[in-house]
Amino acid sequence: MGARPPLSSFGIWMLGPALLKYGNDAQKKEHLPKIAAGEIRWCQGYSEPNAGSDLASLQTRAESDGDDFVITGSKIWTSYANYADWIFCLVRTDPTAKKHDGISFILFDMTSKGVTTKPILLISGYSPFCETFFDGVRVPKSHVVGTVNRGWDVAKYLLQHERAMISGMGERGVGRPLGQIAADSVGTDALGRLDDAMLRGQIASFDVDEAALAACAERAVDLAKAGQAHPAFSSAMKYYGTELNKRRYEILMSAGGVDALEWESERSRQGARPRAWLRTKANSIEGGTSEVMLGIVAKRILDLPGA
Ligand SMILES: Cc1cc2nc3c(=O)[nH]c(=O)nc-3n(C[C@H](O)[C@H](O)[C@H](O)COP(=O)(O)OP(=O)(O)OC[C@H]3O[C@@H](n4cnc5c(N)ncnc54)[C@H](O)[C@@H]3O)c2cc1C
Repeated sequence: MGARPPLSSFGIWMLGPALLKYGNDAQKKEHLPKIAAGEIRWCQGYSEPNAGSDLASLQTRAESDGDDFVITGSKIWTSYANYADWIFCLVRTDPTAKKHDGISFILFDMTSKGVTTKPILLISGYSPFCETFFDGVRVPKSHVVGTVNRGWDVAKYLLQHERAMISGMGERGVGRPLGQIAADSVGTDALGRLDDAMLRGQIASFDVDEAALAACAERAVDLAKAGQAHPAFSSAMKYYGTELNKRRYEILMSAGGVDALEWESERSRQGARPRAWLRTKANSIEGGTSEVMLGIVAKRILDLPGA
């Protein structure tokens, strides 16, 4: 009891696979054991105030100075940056190149001189992410993962893993089947069915879609193991998994009626359900929005003509 959860998301799910593919031996030796042991808490410096969906427009610049890069700029929505030990960060190393070509992927210590973070408070009452500022942060060039100016390849590869991880929200569930939780609020009829026909229909349809997602996830894992996974399939999974998770919480909220909105009592565990419901709204934004995922599926999987 009371033990913190394993540090799985940024390290094991995201940076780890990118280092395995693009890192050099020294970087693997330095970081992979710490990632596996959960010793280092990482954060992700991708988004900027004017570079979210259009990530390649990022402006944080890294200027060459001897053996170092000097990094200046700012990031936004950097989850847990205020707790992180290290950051993996996208920086512009060649401002004259086409936007996808002048980006590098670099790792540095969050205690480096010139790094500051400022938490952002959300509607749910939590503050899981920050604005992150870099003011002349000096980072050795040896901390670039992959080739200088080819960081976009590393960034995209990491995003595939991030999206696969986030899609798992669709399968996670809430401990008990939705039908049972709903029965606590709306009761059951003489046949033992939920005493609300509309809710019953919504839950049945949800259950079928959840089973379909689980089957797709199993297929995706098998394809990945066989080396046949389509690189954009994680975008389809991310879209479906996060939209499904939002539906799950909409159902839970309608099943609970006004009680489900209780925000601050012991009984409601300090509003655990409505806070979780509000948090799901971000699922279809983080790691790339649903609209952007649909665009990727249309272009890269279905091969539809662009607009
Ligand atoms: C909970 C959470 C955690 C996050 N954590 C991190 C983190 O740790 N590190 C990090 O770097 N970032 C993080 N982000 C940021 C996230 O990656 C961005 O919010 C996301 O990529 C969208 O960018 P944006 O917010 O700038 O929205 P915008 O790109 O401005 O999009 C605004 C709207 O326009 C739509 N839109 C934009 N472009 C297109 C298009 N081409 N086609 C169709 N519609 C389009 C979008 O779908 C959206 O509805 C996090 C976000 C959230 C919500």
